[in-house]
Amino acid sequence: MIHLEGINKTYFNGAPLHVLKGIDLDIEKGEMVSIMGASGSGKSTLLNILGILDTYDTGTYTLNGQLIRNLSETRAAELRNRMIGFIFQSFNLISFKNAMENVALPLYYQGINRKKRNAMAMEYLDMVGLKDWAEHMPSEMSGGQKQRVAIARALIAKPQVILADEPTGALDSKTTVEVMELLRNVNEEGMTMVIVTHEQSVADATDRIIRVKDGLIETIEKGRGHV
Ligand code: ADP
Ligand code: MG
Repeated sequence: MIHLEGINKTYFNGAPLHVLKGIDLDIEKGEMVSIMGASGSGKSTLLNILGILDTYDTGTYTLNGQLIRNLSETRAAELRNRMIGFIFQSFNLISFKNAMENVALPLYYQGINRKKRNAMAMEYLDMVGLKDWAEHMPSEMSGGQKQRVAIARALIAKPQVILADEPTGALDSKTTVEVMELLRNVNEEGMTMVIVTHEQSVADATDRIIRVKDGLIETIEKGRGHV
C-alpha cells in the first residue's frame, strides 16, 4: 500500500535542516504499524509526507501504486481526500459544530447533500459508540469521546489509509486502551494504519514498530499485534 525508497527531506527556512536521510519502508495493505523515536527525529515530517501534506526532496513514494511526486495542490488534495484519513493528538474538531456535523464534514467536501451526510455520520457515530452524543458539542465531551468523533470523521470517507499522529497523546491510560481497541477493530476490517506514538503500550498493540533515529529507520521490530 505504501512504498518509500530513499526518502530525503531538508527544511530550508533558516539554516538547512536535513530531517529525513534516506527512508526505505514498505507497509502492506491491512497492516497496522507504529512509528517511534525521540522528539525531533522526523516522525511528523514522515507522516506529513505519507499524508501528501508535505513534499520530499529525493526518493520515491508510491501510495496504492500511484507515484506521489510533483502533484498540483488540487490533485494532492483530491488524492488526500479520497485515500487518507487523519487523526491528531489534539482531535482537531470544529468547536462550533456538534459531533454529527464534525463527522459529516468530509462528505460536505465531496458535495454529498446534508440529509445523506448526516445519516452516514450517525452510522459512523454509532460504530464508535457515540450515537447518543450526536447533538453534543466538542466542549461537552471527554478527551476519549472527542477522539472517537475524530476517528469516525477519519473513516467516513472510506479512506485506504489512516494516519495518526500521537492519537492517544492527550488521553489517560484507560482511555488510551479503549481508543487502541477501537483502532484495532477498524484495522481488522482491512484498514491500513500508521500510528506515531511515544507510548510503548500503543506501539506494542501494532503489527510492527518502526524506530526512527536522526532521520533514518534504526530498527523494525514485530509488535504484539493486539491491545
Ligand atoms: P518529531 O515529530 O519526530 O518530533 P518533526 O518531524 O516534527 O519531528 O521535526 C523534525 C525536525 O524538523 C525538528 O528539528 C523540527 O524542529 C524540524 N521541523 C519540522 N517542521 C519544520 C518546518 N516546517 N520547517 C522547519 N523545520 C521543521
Ligand atoms: Mg511529531
